[in-house]
Amino acid sequence: MKEDLHKGKMHRWRGVKEEGFEEDRVDELLELIWTLREKGVSDMDHLLETTQDIEAKSILRQMIKDDLFQTEGNRIILKERGEEKAREIVRRHRLTERLLHEIFEMSEEEVEEEACKLEHILSPAVTESVCTFLGHPPTCIHGKPIPRGECCTKFKKEMKPLVTPLEELGLGEEARIVFIIPKSHQRLDRLSTLGIVPGGILRMHQKNPSYVLQIGETTLALDRDIVKDIYVKRV
Ligand SMILES: [Zn+2]
Ligand SMILES: [Zn+2]
Repeated sequence: MKEDLHKGKMHRWRGVKEEGFEEDRVDELLELIWTLREKGVSDMDHLLETTQDIEAKSILRQMIKDDLFQTEGNRIILKERGEEKAREIVRRHRLTERLLHEIFEMSEEEVEEEACKLEHILSPAVTESVCTFLGHPPTCIHGKPIPRGECCTKFKKEMKPLVTPLEELGLGEEARIVFIIPKSHQRLDRLSTLGIVPGGILRMHQKNPSYVLQIGETTLALDRDIVKDIYVKRV
C-alpha cells in the first residue's frame, strides 16, 4: 500500500515534468511553422531542415493527433487551435523583444536568448500589460508584425501606457523617442538626419493643420504619416 502510493506520486511528478518539457517543444515548432509561413514557406521538408529539435518528427506526429495542424501532401496547414497557439507565442516573443531592447536596453543577442525563454512563461494577463505598457507596438525589433491582442483593439483605462504614439502627445508636452517603426531605410535615414532618433527629446508645438515639433534648437514640420511611426515616452 505504502509502496503503491509512493509509486503513484513518482509517476505523477515525472508526468508533469515531461508534459512541461514537451509543451515548450510543441510551442517552438508552432512558432517555427508560423515564422516560415511568413516567409512563404509551408512545406514539411523545409520545417524539418530548419528545426533544431532532433525529435521533431515524433513531436509533429503527436501535434497532428492533437489537432494542431494537418498536412496536404508536403504542405503544413495550421488548424484553428494550432493557429491560435502559434499566434500567441509569436506575439509573446515579439513583445518581449521590444520590452527588453527598448526598455531594458539589452543587446539584440541577449534579447533573442531571453525572448526565447520568456515566450513560454508569460501569462495572457502579463502579455497584455506588456503590450499596453509599450503602446501596442505593431512590429518587433526586426520589423516583423506582432499579432494583435485583445488589448490592442479595446481601449483599457486601468493601465496608463508608458510608451505612446507621438501623435497622442499633447501640445507643449515633452517626450523622449523610444522607437521608430521604419517604413523604409531611406525614411529612417532621413529622420535621423533631422535628429529624430531613439533617445532624442522632442516637444509638441502644434498638431493642426500639421504637426510641428521642436527638437533641440530645431523646429520641424512633419507629416502625420511619419508622426504615426514614432513612439515616445513622456518626460
Ligand atoms: Zn523579432
Ligand atoms: Zn495591445
